[in-house]
Amino acid sequence: MAKPILIAGPCAAESKEQLLLTANGLRDSLLRRGLHLDFFRTGIWKPRSKPGDFAGCGEEALPWLQFIQQEYDIPVCVEIGTAEQLDLCEKYDIKAVWIGARTAVNPMAVQEIATAARNRDFTVLVKNPMVADLKLWVGNIERFLNVGLTKVMAVHRGFADSSESVYRNRPSWEIAIDLKVRFPQIPLLCDPSHIAGQRQYIAQLSQIALDYGFDGLMIESHCQPDQALSDAAQQLTPEELAQMLSELKFKDAMTSPAENELRKQRTQIHNIDTQLSVLLSKRMKIVDSIAKIKAEHNLPVVQPEQWNKVVRMYQDNSLQDDDYQEFITEFLELLHQSSIKRQRK
Ligand code: PEP
Ligand code: MN
Repeated sequence: MAKPILIAGPCAAESKEQLLLTANGLRDSLLRRGLHLDFFRTGIWKPRSKPGDFAGCGEEALPWLQFIQQEYDIPVCVEIGTAEQLDLCEKYDIKAVWIGARTAVNPMAVQEIATAARNRDFTVLVKNPMVADLKLWVGNIERFLNVGLTKVMAVHRGFADSSESVYRNRPSWEIAIDLKVRFPQIPLLCDPSHIAGQRQYIAQLSQIALDYGFDGLMIESHCQPDQALSDAAQQLTPEELAQMLSELKFKDAMTSPAENELRKQRTQIHNIDTQLSVLLSKRMKIVDSIAKIKAEHNLPVVQPEQWNKVVRMYQDNSLQDDDYQEFITEFLELLHQSSIKRQRK
């Protein structure tokens, strides 16, 4: 595998000082570990769901970013949602732009930007749309290829859906790999920050992406993550990011395909265990609030028809071998006893 592409920087541009502190930290922390940053990223026009939420500094931040580009000799990448924003980026010589997941659901907006990008020298990163629609993602990339852009990259940032998950956005490695099959020449990056939503999952998601053969990572980093005006829970300090990157396993370092495959499967198991552990605790907390309602309304602790539904659901999803059936029977018994015990307390 060629050296992975690395993009990092704060979710949003908050001030000149915040951008410079983050860029400085990234340079020092990465350099110390022999790592190289390919693009410094930040949002200056953020499409926030709630009106009034902090949306980045806007045009005011462009000269600061131009300064970072020159001072640190690193191309800057910002999110755009309109052709006018592309013009402004050109005015300040910003080298790269990305199409965010919200804009990516609107083919007309993407086409307008693509048309405006014709004959210009931008690197364009196309994030997957919020919805798990491969055609829409493919179509958005084609719009940029059709106007002759050659420096196009794709970014998997997960999909918004309502299924129970510990992640903010559900990753679909299958859809991302399908995209790679369609466009083998286009670098495919993973944005584990927006998949995770919380910083503790970023390392394992990054490892999974690398094991699937992604060409790079886009990760949010902020000089003071807890004070960040957007996406505070998912940002890493430059030092945390560099440390995490230095612990990732890259395929080049692997000795055999078997070892490679083993690591991929282990990371997936680790990923599933993380989710199971969080979901089980969440389940127990819900049991506690159900217990309260039952106590207040004098309802029985054990409601057999309710429990039978749970058992049937597990059986429907069960593997068919005897060992698994035995395991799931014992597991459900334990789960049930434990819930009853909590409710009786
Ligand atoms: C971002 O990268 O800060 C961002 C808003 O991304 P997305 O469009 O993936 O939500
Ligand atoms: Mn963000």
